[in-house]
Amino acid sequence: MINTINAVTIRKRWKNYVHDQEAHPLKYFKPTTLGELVTIVQDAEQKNYTVKAVGSGHSSSDIALCRDYMVGTHGLNHELDISALSLSEQGVKQAGNLCFVECGIRVKALNKLLQNKNKALINMGAYDGQTIAGVISTSTHGSGMTLGSLSSFLKAVVLVGEGGVIYHIEPSAATAISKSAVQLSGFPNITFIQDDDHFNAVGVNIGCMGIIYAVVIEIMDSYFLMENRKFSCWKDVKPLLENRELLNNNRHLEVLVSAYKNKENDYTCMVTERNIVPPRKSGPIIPRGHRKIIYEIILRIVPDFILDAIMRTIINRLPKLIPWMAKLLINSLTDKDYIDRSFRVLNLGRANNLSAYATEIAFPSNKFIDATEAILQIVHKSVEEGMQYLSAPFSLRFVKTNHFFLSMQYGQENDFVCMIEFPTVNRSVGGMEMLSRIEAAMYAFGGIPHWGQVNHIGGHSDARLDKLYPRYHDWMNVYKHYCSKGTFQNDFSRRAGIEIC
Ligand SMILES: Cc1cc2nc3c(=O)[nH]c(=O)nc-3n(C[C@H](O)[C@H](O)[C@H](O)COP(=O)(O)OP(=O)(O)OC[C@H]3O[C@@H](n4cnc5c(N)ncnc54)[C@H](O)[C@@H]3O)c2cc1C
Repeated sequence: MINTINAVTIRKRWKNYVHDQEAHPLKYFKPTTLGELVTIVQDAEQKNYTVKAVGSGHSSSDIALCRDYMVGTHGLNHELDISALSLSEQGVKQAGNLCFVECGIRVKALNKLLQNKNKALINMGAYDGQTIAGVISTSTHGSGMTLGSLSSFLKAVVLVGEGGVIYHIEPSAATAISKSAVQLSGFPNITFIQDDDHFNAVGVNIGCMGIIYAVVIEIMDSYFLMENRKFSCWKDVKPLLENRELLNNNRHLEVLVSAYKNKENDYTCMVTERNIVPPRKSGPIIPRGHRKIIYEIILRIVPDFILDAIMRTIINRLPKLIPWMAKLLINSLTDKDYIDRSFRVLNLGRANNLSAYATEIAFPSNKFIDATEAILQIVHKSVEEGMQYLSAPFSLRFVKTNHFFLSMQYGQENDFVCMIEFPTVNRSVGGMEMLSRIEAAMYAFGGIPHWGQVNHIGGHSDARLDKLYPRYHDWMNVYKHYCSKGTFQNDFSRRAGIEIC
């Protein structure tokens, strides 16, 4: 049966985006149909192997690694017909703003597909290389106090589970968009589950409950954003965050902070505000990449590996220049009244191509200011003690809470979390140690690390899942349902402490 799948590779050396995570699975599959996904899962179970789906490998953690059957999903990248859903009354009302796509479509392709229909994602992260199932599975987020993570826009999941059983999962009837299971040709026995616990667990399931075949997400009419990015300093920004003024006045808000004191004995910041504006009449001169023109030209002309080498040389050989470099980076990003389509403005652009990893930590709305000040102290002390630096400024992004049990943004209604990210140039001396030091100290501030970024979740310490996630046991109950035979277990889930057998 398995031989009918053409795209199978053995002795595959799979690497993530930054090439710091590597897996050599027994078999690497590139399915293009739902039927192939079913066959892969059934074949693995017959031989007592485990299975793991992988998107674009843009996670810098070990979350996508797998030793047995690894399933690359980029071949599952089509839009599906919404009429295959048997919509409820609710669903019919929302039908114009629903999008039904296969798991492996990249965010970039999805943006294009939606643009052609005059539609757009409600929000997105700072990058578009990931797959839709990848971003949903790790609760990837953008910024905006009233905007949730990408999983928040999820309406339905079609999942291939143990035994090759196909599930169509939605929240309970009150909010569900369907009345019965989706109709997919050749698959008459799809199991329809309408249950809040199942939906809230599967919605962010870090690749541990099966292979997501397709998702239905909420979208909106296409829109334009205006971006302003200006210099500031922590002393001025802090009160505006405390009284929520900056947060309430902007659809999207980000604050970039240099961890090193400037001449005024303060920390240089950059505040990014983005808000919806009427469409601009003519297109931009440069369609992508919109920050300061001189830096944009440099980023376009100079190959990534040369920029990487320059930055790594400064960090590793001339560390005292790091504070200057952090200021330069902030300066390169400032801009004024930039207007473009939402997905272009939300994308950080070429800076995403630099070879870097990160740790990112979610903080409750009442703790992030104290956490930020503690981070500044940790960095200061690390520089004094052993000349260990954070190689780039760190960013604060604000995300609405959601109801997914294992989302870093899980929380009460009408609240938000602040996600603080520490990007680090690959192979920089002390980079990983600095991130570990910060992560370890941040649990005391209610910090929860991002699944897709470098993290040390698990063990018996403050990083235990049941300490971090109040609904962890509810998630485990659902996990036991979808992974009763251990088919979707892997080394990552074991180190995180997710085990049933
Ligand atoms: C340049 C860059 C920028 C980034 N920007 C942001 C950002 O702005 N905000 C943010 O929050 N994060 C950001 N990230 C992190 C990134 O969004 C997440 O790590 C995301 O999960 C990666 O998606 P992916 O498709 O590459 O998935 P992978 O990294 O390949 O996989 C992630 C997880 O999803 C699971 N998975 C993937 N597909 C399926 C499927 N079909 N079925 C079941 N499970 C599946 C995998 O098993 C794994 O557990 C960024 C990463 C990079 C490299």
